[in-house]
Amino acid sequence: MEPLPRMSPTLSLCVYCGSRPGTDPAYRHAAEAVGTLIGRSGWQLVYGGGRAGLMGLVADAALAAGARVVGVIPSTLMERELGHGGLHELHVVETMHERKQMMAERSDAFVALPGGIGTFEELFEVWTWRQLGYHDKPVGLLNVRGYYDPLLDFLRQTEQAGFVNSAQRELLQVDTDPTALLERLGTLARQASAPDDYRRI
Ligand code: AMP
Repeated sequence: MEPLPRMSPTLSLCVYCGSRPGTDPAYRHAAEAVGTLIGRSGWQLVYGGGRAGLMGLVADAALAAGARVVGVIPSTLMERELGHGGLHELHVVETMHERKQMMAERSDAFVALPGGIGTFEELFEVWTWRQLGYHDKPVGLLNVRGYYDPLLDFLRQTEQAGFVNSAQRELLQVDTDPTALLERLGTLARQASAPDDYRRI
């Protein structure tokens, strides 16, 4: 059955993930699962706007499942990350800062999938913005096949060493299961969307 087009998404989820596919097929499957869940949930996907790597797989799976998809890409990366021609909106911006700001403003929740340093940077930025109170949107990490285990161990170590506290750490929602994680982010995003202190980024 053809997916129904969703004209009014109920929630906008920003996905950060690799511009490469990674070596383990589990990463690709997880990216497709997240895209499909976004479509089936009637949500909108906001992402980096490319067709490269996991980014392209999330977008294509979301489109196939009927999601509205918004991409934001700096003009300098149009070639390298293969700007996606089939999105509902593709914003070509001048700088990486504009990209990240627009992605954050257009989203109600954030999730990072496996990726490289670009993904880490995006995740840490939006997590630190959250702890500073610049926004109140939930932030998640999908730990596919233990990819982020060493990072999670390190984060525990940062707590023991006294540089991060448990409240900051608990702002990051971690799960190995895409369905469970997206459900949790959806619930938290709806709780967070109280009128006044919303969209402060
Ligand atoms: P990567 O995880 O390195 O494959 O990159 C994933 C995405 O993050 C790509 O769309 C990159 O363009 C983007 N990216 C790379 N560097 C940065 C950065 N400094 N800030 C935000 N995003 C970045």
